[in-house]
Amino acid sequence: HTLIEKLEKTIENIPDFPIEGIQFKDITPIFLDPKLYEEVIEDLANFSRGKVDVVCGIESRGYLFGIAIAVALEVPFVLIRKKGKLPPPFVSEKYALEYGTAEIEMKTGQLKPGQRVLIHDDLLATGGTTEAAAKLVEKQGAIASQFSFLIGLKDLHGEKKLEQFNAEVYSILNY
Ligand code: 5GP
Repeated sequence: HTLIEKLEKTIENIPDFPIEGIQFKDITPIFLDPKLYEEVIEDLANFSRGKVDVVCGIESRGYLFGIAIAVALEVPFVLIRKKGKLPPPFVSEKYALEYGTAEIEMKTGQLKPGQRVLIHDDLLATGGTTEAAAKLVEKQGAIASQFSFLIGLKDLHGEKKLEQFNAEVYSILNY
């Protein structure tokens, strides 16, 4: 079986969560299968190898894979956090979600100007979260060079929102 086939069988679809009409993709069964987890990391690391200087992961599911990608690439990992968790100094950015609104923050001083950054999250929906993450990266003079996800939801046109960054985009699975 290919990685795509294994992930399709492993990721669970939960209808009407967190609100009616949304089909939630539960990626947590991946962690029950360490070999599959390793394959996911290898695939995502291969996309970014030699192309980025830093990995940024978005809280919290973006951490579960992002830090392992960074270790595989032997580059630093920087956290993008939900509002209210970080002591100052930090930069912040508001954005609209598939359901609701939110704000993300990033500790200043960990990204260096000119660094090429991979922004990683588990899933690309409307692209609002990732767009805000890229803005945080660029506010600090670094470059949003790549975006990677386990899952891209095509119908929500997240990739369109990311075009402004002139970066490579990769999702292992597309729905
Ligand atoms: P966006 O900002 O692209 O609309 O939404 C993406 C964000 O919402 C990601 O941080 C992702 O973790 C979360 N998200 C939205 N829908 C789902 C889903 O069905 N499954 C999972 N695992 N995360 C989701």
